[in-house]
Amino acid sequence: MAAISLSHIQKTYGKGPKANTVIRDLSADIQDGEFVVIVGPSGCGKSTLLRMVAGLEEISAGTLKIGERIVNDLEPARRDIAMVFQNYALYPHMSVFENMAYGLKIAKVPEAEIRARVDKAAGILELSHLLERKPRELSGGQRQRVAMGRAIVRDSQVFLFDEPLSNLDAQLRVAMRTEIKALHQRLKTTSIYVTHDQIEAMTMADKIVVMRDGLVEQAGSPLELYDRPANQFVAGFIGSPSMNFLPGVVKGGHVQLSDGSQLPMPSQARADEGQKVIYGTRPEHIEITSQTDGVATQVLLVEPTGAETQVFTQIAGIDVNSVFRERHAFAPGQTIYLRPDAKRAHLFDAGSGKRLAA
Ligand code: ADP
Ligand code: MG
Repeated sequence: MAAISLSHIQKTYGKGPKANTVIRDLSADIQDGEFVVIVGPSGCGKSTLLRMVAGLEEISAGTLKIGERIVNDLEPARRDIAMVFQNYALYPHMSVFENMAYGLKIAKVPEAEIRARVDKAAGILELSHLLERKPRELSGGQRQRVAMGRAIVRDSQVFLFDEPLSNLDAQLRVAMRTEIKALHQRLKTTSIYVTHDQIEAMTMADKIVVMRDGLVEQAGSPLELYDRPANQFVAGFIGSPSMNFLPGVVKGGHVQLSDGSQLPMPSQARADEGQKVIYGTRPEHIEITSQTDGVATQVLLVEPTGAETQVFTQIAGIDVNSVFRERHAFAPGQTIYLRPDAKRAHLFDAGSGKRLAA
């Protein structure tokens, strides 16, 4: 096991006028044994970053350390890393056993030890009864477990995961999420897990790194990112359903919206009188209240899920989504009064999108 340190990493594909800088300046520290999830929209450079850590892609600038060693120029095989890909990359003509044993065979590990290591990994992943099958005789989830088995048998210092669950259906994804997390709690191998799915990031990570356009927007624990997003991008990306954003102006200790309605100033915020701001409130932090206390809104749509009720309304012409634990049978067109919880509301600068905090 080992810590990983990424310091001012850059990646440019191509040269001259065709040069395309994909990772602009990325620094992150991953502690020994930590499970770090790198999350960001498609195309932001996540796979590129992971491939640089694995040694499959050259690093254009910056320093990559694994443990105490600088490994920028170390060949992949000597980095002691195992990688699990989205498409599993299993050999179709080989059995599960052979797929899991392949890397060890290439590394000339003695036969008996290969047997022992594959058996142990198969036990952990509940694949013992499937060792003689071919990949085509497995379900998607089983194939994904074989791909993980191949990583586990290598006893590597570091695991890298590149969207390993994207090809699975929703139910299996949830199950595999739990399995990978449980596996990590058991093996404690330093892991970098890349995904575009913020729910995977929230549920699995010790630490999340939110990336956009080759830069880190924010790094922190899942709840730090949820409670104190550093900017509007992170605020909108983390949390489901997404945070509502209402443009307004700070006026007399309130935030005044375009139609003149007023929202309570977020308790932790600091902004100047007259400043243009974006008011952020999560759907789960909005209450139904009385006419004297709230903002009048028209109900557009009500979606009951059984456990909760989602209510879609508009405030000052902006769509606002609220979620309530109680059941409500509002009719479309009905007026209701809503109030964001000021203790859990957020304020961002309208220009920079940065969090305005006391
Ligand atoms: P992500 O995994 O976050 O979806 P990628 O790392 O795959 O993003 O890609 C980031 C950007 O780098 C994309 O714009 C992609 O087109 C570009 N890119 C990826 N690989 C190459 C390559 N081998 N040559 C040139 N551009 C590439
Ligand atoms: Mg990718």
